[in-house]
Amino acid sequence: MDEIHIPNDATYAPVALTDLIAGAPLASTLLLGATLPGQVISAAALGMYAGSAVKDWLARQDVRWIDFVVEFGADVHWLDAMPEDARREEIGRLARRLDDGWTNEHRPRQKLARDVNRRLTEFIASITGQRVKTSSAVRDFGLAQLVFPFAMGACDVISGDVSIFRDTGLFEPHVICHEFVHRKGYWKELHAQVLAYLALVSSDEPLLVQAALAERLHRQLKVLAAEDADAYHDLVEGLHARSELTEALHAVRPDPTAYESVVGSVMRRLYDERLKLTGQNGISDYDVGFTNFLWTFAHSEDARQDRDLVRV
Ligand SMILES: [Zn+2]
Repeated sequence: MDEIHIPNDATYAPVALTDLIAGAPLASTLLLGATLPGQVISAAALGMYAGSAVKDWLARQDVRWIDFVVEFGADVHWLDAMPEDARREEIGRLARRLDDGWTNEHRPRQKLARDVNRRLTEFIASITGQRVKTSSAVRDFGLAQLVFPFAMGACDVISGDVSIFRDTGLFEPHVICHEFVHRKGYWKELHAQVLAYLALVSSDEPLLVQAALAERLHRQLKVLAAEDADAYHDLVEGLHARSELTEALHAVRPDPTAYESVVGSVMRRLYDERLKLTGQNGISDYDVGFTNFLWTFAHSEDARQDRDLVRV
């Protein structure tokens, strides 16, 4: 099979290069009272950053991209709205399926990241006939965490640097996979959600399947509850699922701290605007868009991929 290797050199730097460029002048001012060392470090980092970004960009020239409309009969601007009663029925089915297939397996993050990356590579290759090999490196801190306190992870658009900000437990395979889809060159949030879901749910590993189903359930609950946190937690209680699942679903929508709610609400609006400016529907692509996509695919007459992939 055709194979492409994206070097992702920036992922081997000891800290994220974007963070170094943003933070070095500030840190040296605070620590040393001078900006010169920071500027030297920034300039060196900028050089490395630009070099690795160009290498990645060149390697991506030969990537065969997935045509979402052809393969799944759905895309960012090609979505049917899932009716609310269908959402409620699906929530019941997802909760039961998660209960039945439950696993308490825990895998260390770096091992999990390698396994998830391998699965994602194979899934995309099963559609395009081409393996796009990318780095499995994951950081556990990034400055983006301070700017986007509501985020669980981030992938730098230029360097492909992936950070996972907190222990997301049950959802971790999905969170990692979502960021890895970006690293393979798919920048839209809907595409990251969908490819991560489909890759994991079609794997034969219970831990990965579980994460995919849990993410779908969590997103359906968020759609029904809209912005109302109490409504969300009530819906979780109403599932009467096993305690591990109930706890994980409560924990993934934590009550924001004062800092998070102030920074979060401003940054959310800006982030929503940024998504719209880049041809996406906005933050809603993470939940409304994602679940509508799976619904549209499930009912598509001419999707090339097997619709059993999305059945629960
Ligand atoms: Zn994303």
